[in-house]
Amino acid sequence: MSHCVAARCFEHATDHGDRLALSVAGLQVSYAELTTLAARIGMWLESAAERPPERVGILASRSLAAYAGILGAWWCGASYVPLNPKLPATRLLKIQEITGLDALVVDAAGLQLVLENPLIAAPARVLAPCDRVNESVRAGPREMRIAGCNELPALTAPHPPKSVRADDSAYIMFTSGSTGVPKGVVVTAGNVAHFLAAIEERFSFRPTDRFSQLFELNFDLSVADMANAWSVGASLHVVPATQLIAPARFLQEHELTVWFSVPSTAVMMGRMRLLRPGAFPSLRYSLFCGEPLPLSTVEQWRQAAPQSIIENLYGPTEATIFCLGERVTWPPNVTPNRGTIAIGKPLRGTNAAVIDSARRALGPGQPGELALSGGQVAQGYFADPGTTRARFPLIDGETWYLTGDLAYRDDAGVFHHLGRIDNQVKVLGNRVELEEVEAHLREVCGCDSVCAVAWPVQHGSASGIVAFLSGVQLASQAVREAMRERLPSYMVPTEVRILDDLPHGVTGKVDRTALVQLLERGGACRSG
Ligand code: AMP
Repeated sequence: MSHCVAARCFEHATDHGDRLALSVAGLQVSYAELTTLAARIGMWLESAAERPPERVGILASRSLAAYAGILGAWWCGASYVPLNPKLPATRLLKIQEITGLDALVVDAAGLQLVLENPLIAAPARVLAPCDRVNESVRAGPREMRIAGCNELPALTAPHPPKSVRADDSAYIMFTSGSTGVPKGVVVTAGNVAHFLAAIEERFSFRPTDRFSQLFELNFDLSVADMANAWSVGASLHVVPATQLIAPARFLQEHELTVWFSVPSTAVMMGRMRLLRPGAFPSLRYSLFCGEPLPLSTVEQWRQAAPQSIIENLYGPTEATIFCLGERVTWPPNVTPNRGTIAIGKPLRGTNAAVIDSARRALGPGQPGELALSGGQVAQGYFADPGTTRARFPLIDGETWYLTGDLAYRDDAGVFHHLGRIDNQVKVLGNRVELEEVEAHLREVCGCDSVCAVAWPVQHGSASGIVAFLSGVQLASQAVREAMRERLPSYMVPTEVRILDDLPHGVTGKVDRTALVQLLERGGACRSG
């Protein structure tokens, strides 16, 4: 059987077209309906283009247009670039500038953004597949036309998706970049196929399963939900934005059988007392990924979903979604002194090693940087050969991805996560390079004395960022507002503190540890 998600969808549509494929924004969409729309979008993307489209932007979120757009891009052999309409326009423009998209698929929110800021679409062709728009918009010196669903080509015969090669790109996912510019991880069709092969071996997903979709499309864990559900002919249930804070009721009403979230979501649900014993009887699998999984949360979740298998999954975007996993047993395998679940063993097809700074493999019990190789390791960063070479070096003739995670392997071959060796942090499950926040702070404040720290941090995951500045005349509120214009909301400092001087270490660098200690002591400084 093919390991291409679009091809699998087409097979399910042919065999069981009336089965539910997608529940989104109040719509129940069958495999026949979803694949017909995807095929028509694919045909539109190919039509009137000088060459087959390579990269299609998806300026849409939690809507039929978003999911049909992704499948439509895959239908015509293109890759997709998720563009969350909630991102500031400057960031969307940056990603558009880096990737040079061939076309853009938009939903109502995306359409609004393009109308307000036509340059986001330049020079892409724009399709609003679920709207009857027929707009002409002036974008700089040229006229831009937005095609609506009335312009989608009709489907007169079954139209299977184009077959793709293993090294064709499937999606480009932008993550925070330490140079101040987001970096695009290029994941190929072959990477996704390896992921699906590993999944098939590990989990017994079936057509009757009902998968959650909590993640935004610009977080690569969203790909797991789509790929896992649609590869077995199951249904994907997209949680509306308004229910993301407390998705317990959605889980119950949709009788979900497979749950996948960052641990922060479960922690929040625990705090809101939503993890009552027996609350989620429908769940068969409870999957967590993206940040350390606290033992205390697992204990509560186990009570709430007593029938479900719980897994702690680990992986960076650069190694396609996740590639290590620990199936929680009782008593659980806990990383000593951290109160979090071990990250487990590599999935089929992935090799993991702990290495030292000279890139030599370390033995059991020795902490070092976690490195990954195998079929899920991505091609690198889009149009950034320097960073790609640095992060994806050849070691003994094989390409490895250096994760920047500090880890060790125990005597049983189980890996344990100990934090980071750099300044990458997780804020409510979202990946953030503190240097990127600082680069923007410098521009906004017009001064170099800036530092960002993750705060407060519990079990290795932060719930916010505090910015420290010195020699700045701007009010804290003005700084936050300016940052909001540039960065996703989770990267905007929750607090801005102004000090007379920033503390420096022996190397002359700003001493982040001293700033964290200041916050721990509740230290005095000007704050806004
Ligand atoms: P992302 O590329 O956004 O998926 O973030 C990848 C990073 O998230 C990894 O390099 C780790 O630092 C962190 N991470 C992912 N999964 C886990 C996990 N199960 N436990 C601890 N950290 C994790």
